[in-house]
Amino acid sequence: MKRVYNFAAGPAVLPEEVLREAAGEMLDYNGTGMSVMEMSHRSKAFEGIINDAEKTLRELMNIPDNYKVLFLQGGASQQFAMIPMNLMKNRVADHIVTGQWAKKAAQEGKIFGKVNILASSEDKTFSYIPDLKGLKFSEDADYVYICHNNTIYGTKYNELPETGDKVLVADMSSDILSEPVDVTKYGLIFAGAQKNIGPAGVVVVIIREDLITEDVLPGTPTMLRYKIHADNGSLYNTPPAYGIYICGKVFKWVKEKGGLEAMKKINEEKAAILYDYLDSSSMFKGTVVKKDRSLMNVPFVTGSDELDAKFVKEAKAAGFENLKGHRSVGGMRASIYNAMPIEGVKALVEFMKKFEAENK
Ligand SMILES: *Cc1c(COP(=O)(O)O)cnc(C)c1O
Repeated sequence: MKRVYNFAAGPAVLPEEVLREAAGEMLDYNGTGMSVMEMSHRSKAFEGIINDAEKTLRELMNIPDNYKVLFLQGGASQQFAMIPMNLMKNRVADHIVTGQWAKKAAQEGKIFGKVNILASSEDKTFSYIPDLKGLKFSEDADYVYICHNNTIYGTKYNELPETGDKVLVADMSSDILSEPVDVTKYGLIFAGAQKNIGPAGVVVVIIREDLITEDVLPGTPTMLRYKIHADNGSLYNTPPAYGIYICGKVFKWVKEKGGLEAMKKINEEKAAILYDYLDSSSMFKGTVVKKDRSLMNVPFVTGSDELDAKFVKEAKAAGFENLKGHRSVGGMRASIYNAMPIEGVKALVEFMKKFEAENK
């Protein structure tokens, strides 16, 4: 068996310990004589799995009691519709557009109401987070929407827009559990699992209880109502059971590593290894404004498409997978999520140094 260093943006690397544990339980979960994949979602065993997963996530993120945790399907992209359908009482939303995912969310919102783009960084290929001071929120906006970490471009918010009593909604698909977060600042946080917390097929929604109401937009399907899922403990229909089981194991793994403070420390250390090299290299350059750099997704270029392609090819041959940048940006991108060991980042930088020396 050979494991590579997988720098994919998502689906992405998972902790090896989690995969091994799941493998060990594949045929017989905890004495049930069956795999979690084969088990009723209404069984005692699965009840334990989903309750434990929620409990550990609540502990990790310090989620207050007046927030619900939902395990849903449809990916992060379905939330782009579900959020307006459930929250757009006045049919107005304020959006800050910092990348493709933020843009898609704003476009989806327009199906349901008026979307005000308060700020955008599209003028410079989303290489920065717009200045948040002096943003004028719309009086009648139902919420303010941000994408907290921009997976494709490699930027993140280091501070939040001061939305006052306006509900702040955040897509944290690519940085949830990478550092501590003050959940009380948000009305709703969501994250597709396949970046930092588990397999594709699960999306975690953390939503303040007062935002969960019957009063949704006309035509909202049952399955797209937060209330249905909240009232049924995410078991209204068959949930993505195996995915939730793996997420639960990842949550435990994060807890064993020391929780979110510890994750932040190690993530900062990992990112610094790569950014420090990018800042000193005469071949490779980072593509975003330094103060807005993501800890999770690190895009870089050589300035030559040919050299970029050569690098990606040789890196792959050396066991560094999925370093090709997103098709909209080109170049390279190393996603260094929680589960990427520091050894992987160090080895990548050594490889980059060697490549630089050989291709001067
Ligand atoms: C990957 C990603 C999405 C889309 O996720 P899907 O689960 O494929 O819908 C949305 N937002 C962000 C920030 C992402 O990284």
